[in-house]
Amino acid sequence: MDLGIRGRQALVCAGSKGLGKACAYSLVREGVNVTIVARGQQTLEETAAELRALNSGAVTAVVADITSAEGRALALKHCPSPDILITNAGGPPAGDFRDLTHEMWLAALEANMLTPIALIRSTIDQMISRQFGRIINITSSAVKAPIDILALSNGARSGLTGFVAGIARKSASKNVTINNLLPGLFDTETMRSRSESMAQASGKSFEEVQQQRLQPIAAGRFGMPSEFGDACAYLCSSQAAYITGMNFLIDGGAYPGVF
Ligand code: NAP
Repeated sequence: MDLGIRGRQALVCAGSKGLGKACAYSLVREGVNVTIVARGQQTLEETAAELRALNSGAVTAVVADITSAEGRALALKHCPSPDILITNAGGPPAGDFRDLTHEMWLAALEANMLTPIALIRSTIDQMISRQFGRIINITSSAVKAPIDILALSNGARSGLTGFVAGIARKSASKNVTINNLLPGLFDTETMRSRSESMAQASGKSFEEVQQQRLQPIAAGRFGMPSEFGDACAYLCSSQAAYITGMNFLIDGGAYPGVF
């Protein structure tokens, strides 16, 4: 299926690895010109080279911390008027909520709530004036089913989710949609390093922890980032104009509820 977005401009935040990279990959494959942003230059350049090798959309790499105002300004300088915005950043640390400091809460809110809001604010009016826009926020399954040791993620991402619900209907008649993608467990560096921390804390091996984490997943495996990227590309397609304000859980059937 041709997604009808060839030649569109996309800004993909936190796009050098994992889920952000997978979204960038699927978009470039569709002929979208993509600007990827991450802090580490070497991996970012390697990813940009991988994406350019697809010989499809153009790829620009911007070294920046997307959670800072300066980093966002630099990203938008290179991609001033995106048709497609994928917001993403690293997730906040785990821990007992009693151990979380005020500064840790502010950092989580900055990265996982206020940064996406600032990026939406900077880009949505131009999308509305062009009558095309697709905004996807990468959040977490923790929005749907909060995870006790992820208080920072539960809180900050729920704040973003509430904000999106409040504005998504405002731009739908102008063909500008906003949706959230909620990953369950995907096989990325972040997921593996969390398994390593869990192994250290519990005295179990990394393999035992990985097996334990697989238990609730009906699909019997972790998600592949490409599966996430392709879902993202579909939500960015011209065909997805009638989908807005939704929260899509992609978790291999781990969540047991009906809604
Ligand atoms: P990942 O594979 O570790 O990749 C993280 C990416 O984000 C890297 O490209 C990293 O590059 C970039 N990044 C991190 N902080 C950044 C910043 N301040 N500015 C710019 N780029 C930044 O992680 P992932 O698994 O794809 O996770 C992506 C998001 O989904 C995270 O918020 C994570 O908590 C959430 N999530 C993931 C899963 C999962 O199973 N994978 C589940 C639920 C939620 P640099 O470090 O070089 O900047």
